[in-house]
Amino acid sequence: MGKVIAIANQKGGVGKTTTSVNLAASMAATRRKVLLVDLDPQGNATSGLGFPRGSIEQGVYQALIDKVSLRELTQLTVLPTLWLVPATADLAGAEVELVAEPRREWQLAEALAPVRERYDFIFIDCPPSLGLLTLNALVAADSVLIPMQAKYFSLEGLGALTGTIAMVKDSLNPRLVVEGIVFCMLDKRTNLAQQVVAEVKQHFAEHVFETVIPPNVRLSESPSHGKPVLLYDIESKGAKAYLELAQELLARQEAREKL
Ligand code: ATP
Ligand code: MG
Repeated sequence: MGKVIAIANQKGGVGKTTTSVNLAASMAATRRKVLLVDLDPQGNATSGLGFPRGSIEQGVYQALIDKVSLRELTQLTVLPTLWLVPATADLAGAEVELVAEPRREWQLAEALAPVRERYDFIFIDCPPSLGLLTLNALVAADSVLIPMQAKYFSLEGLGALTGTIAMVKDSLNPRLVVEGIVFCMLDKRTNLAQQVVAEVKQHFAEHVFETVIPPNVRLSESPSHGKPVLLYDIESKGAKAYLELAQELLARQEAREKL
């Protein structure tokens, strides 16, 4: 059964999509079968993997609202073991349309259930809000990976997110855990970065990944080429960091399974 990991943070621009695309690709590079679900109406993961806005007609919206099977919606990407369920522009309406749906928080979980066994990992790129789409991701997920920037206000947002995670765990999805916090665009040399990292470690010690994603221009360039960074510039610091993050995630998983 594929492990489902939601990549979430309601703060915008912290590195959710960059992490979704490049961690999924790095995991696929280890020959694991990986599915990435683009649950953000902005569709950045979709275009970043080579499906520009308007080039595809159906995506996760049709699974959530029209109950189309995910099998029919899944696209193979530039990597042989990385598949994508794209986001189309109509996904923006789903947040409102889901409200009237019975079991509205369960639509993604129900859509994923029949395809889970086909993959080793399923990543979900969440939108920058704690609305119904993100809630659907948290209900469908086994764990949440939180990308974070080391900025002064980052910690405040973390409280709202962990509050939502606790609420989901209590009422909708008892198996949900925090997979980890990964710092993105982190320049370790600045004082503020060191301060924020220290503070986050105080609160969430074991959750913070050792791997840090540095600021790297290759990471911001690769989406416009429709490729994950490891196909754009494998030698870049960004590519190496995400390969390392995939290894750390696998090592943590193995350590947990041994317990
Ligand atoms: P949103 O909340 O809008 O969905 P997000 O959390 O998904 O945003 P990204 O889109 O991954 O964030 O990143 C925001 C911007 O920062 C993008 O332009 C991206 O290319 C850039 N970026 C992300 N990570 C890095 C990095 N490590 N180095 C340089 N640029 C980065
Ligand atoms: Mg994004």
